[in-house]
Amino acid sequence: MEITASEMKKSIQKIYERLDKVSPVDFDCGKLCGEVCCVYDEDNNNTEELVLYLLPGEELMYEDSPEFELYYMDSSEIRYPHSWKDSIYLVKCVNPPRCDRSIRPIQCRTFPLVPHISKDGEFHLILDETEFPYECPILRDHIRLNDDFIKVTYEVWKMLIRNPLVYDLVDMDSKDREKRTSSYKTVI
Ligand code: SF4
Ligand code: SF4
Repeated sequence: MEITASEMKKSIQKIYERLDKVSPVDFDCGKLCGEVCCVYDEDNNNTEELVLYLLPGEELMYEDSPEFELYYMDSSEIRYPHSWKDSIYLVKCVNPPRCDRSIRPIQCRTFPLVPHISKDGEFHLILDETEFPYECPILRDHIRLNDDFIKVTYEVWKMLIRNPLVYDLVDMDSKDREKRTSSYKTVI
């Protein structure tokens, strides 16, 4: 039975609510770095633009938000798994680092952890050290992440990869990562 848009939106809302209850650290880490992960832009460092890729269904959260500009790309325009045949949605943060935090995307909520599927097919969370040109002080200074943040983030991603599209995306990113480096740090 196909899931309706309203059911999909409710399930994303539940994920956001679960992640709202935890935080990577118990202080405002943005004060350490000027919220660089919100304001960094690859082509034009520290501009006011930031774009985040959405997972399937997240686009339903942004239809009426003035703080996020929702748009989409054709899946053929970008290197994405072949299973992603429909449009790929993205949001631009209109006024970073300020935003409606209750609807910030999953990609933003689970940083600095990312999902990874190892060569033996095991699912893990690892530190997202390799993919950003800016320095995150949590990673640089080896600041310990909260246990409940790790646990909830793990459970959420484990649930998300039950969606074959999400699995294929995590799998593709993981294979790319394994080709680049074997020195990523597994958290769980
Ligand atoms: S997650 Fe890292 S880069 Fe982002 S605000 Fe916190 S310390 Fe800064
Ligand atoms: S969604 Fe909000 S917290 Fe996340 S990067 Fe954009 S402005 Fe920063």
